[in-house]
Amino acid sequence: MDPDLCYGSYDCVHRIPSVFTTVDGFGAVLPGREDAGDDQRVRDAAQWCPSQAITLTE
Ligand code: SF4
Repeated sequence: MDPDLCYGSYDCVHRIPSVFTTVDGFGAVLPGREDAGDDQRVRDAAQWCPSQAITLTE
């Protein structure tokens, strides 16, 4: 999650509240969920993030 790109649309939070949350008005990954990149829903959230702020790492 790149805080310089995120503008707080909360699309990711609405899609997967078990992985994403909000911190100070921006999207963030919940502690301990950084390894959720294998989840197709997370991949979809990254694809649909309007500012391309979500980066998946293998
Ligand atoms: S979908 Fe993208 S822009 Fe919207 S809160 Fe999540 S990371 Fe930020």
